[in-house]
Amino acid sequence: MIDGMLAVDAHCHIGEFRGERFGMRRFTADDLVERMDNCGVDRALVCHLASPLVEQEDFKRANNVVVQATWQQPDRLTGVCIVNPKHGPFAQQEVRRCLEAGLKAVKLQPVLHGYYDVDSDLLEPIARRCADAGAPLFVHSDFNSKCCTPYQVARLAARYPQVNVVMLHMGLDFEMLAKVVDLARPYRNLHLDTSQTPDAPQAVFVHPVRRLGAERVLFGSDMPLLSVEVNLAKLALAQQLFGLSQDEKRQVLGGNASRLFGLA
Ligand SMILES: [Zn+2]
Repeated sequence: MIDGMLAVDAHCHIGEFRGERFGMRRFTADDLVERMDNCGVDRALVCHLASPLVEQEDFKRANNVVVQATWQQPDRLTGVCIVNPKHGPFAQQEVRRCLEAGLKAVKLQPVLHGYYDVDSDLLEPIARRCADAGAPLFVHSDFNSKCCTPYQVARLAARYPQVNVVMLHMGLDFEMLAKVVDLARPYRNLHLDTSQTPDAPQAVFVHPVRRLGAERVLFGSDMPLLSVEVNLAKLALAQQLFGLSQDEKRQVLGGNASRLFGLA
């Protein structure tokens, strides 16, 4: 708990890096829970690291690591499976398998997995499966990608209004943050994740909450690639310096994830 509020980090990773990254070779479920304990985070939505995954078997192994982690830490970890829709029926079967094993959402990272367009027909079977299962769809966004720009993620949300879509990183472009909020606005099933956003509490938390409603912004850090501690400080400053209310903070920090994932 943080300030008496349920704290959920909606964007975390575990797994083996490709080679070594910042002195790390792997980040395990135990490492993740230790970091959470140190800063008061109650629960993490966790997916495998996306970058080492290429072949179908890589995805299967990675998702199994997450399934195991959630079985071992059901009170702390909620699992997100990752697939590459270009794998066709395998990807569809993998989504089904993972959701049956207890994972609660599906993540797509087109930039690392072959540059498929997130608003194309390729996603149809996976989006349908998410709709049937009530599972949110987490989608990497990047204005420079030409395959998962915020415009395309918004079109995906428009195409499947029954699926809760979470746009990760808010487009990765500081100059375009306000634009992302505007283009997300018409789609009530489209949510914004605050991971990999600039050190601008008013632009990342306060403005989106005021324009979209606090129910559409999810606190996320991208731990261990980025620091959950820094992101918690950014959220605290949004309240201390820029007028985010206690109730808005409560929703962003854990209330929304709790609602989307049926967490107690
Ligand atoms: Zn991430």
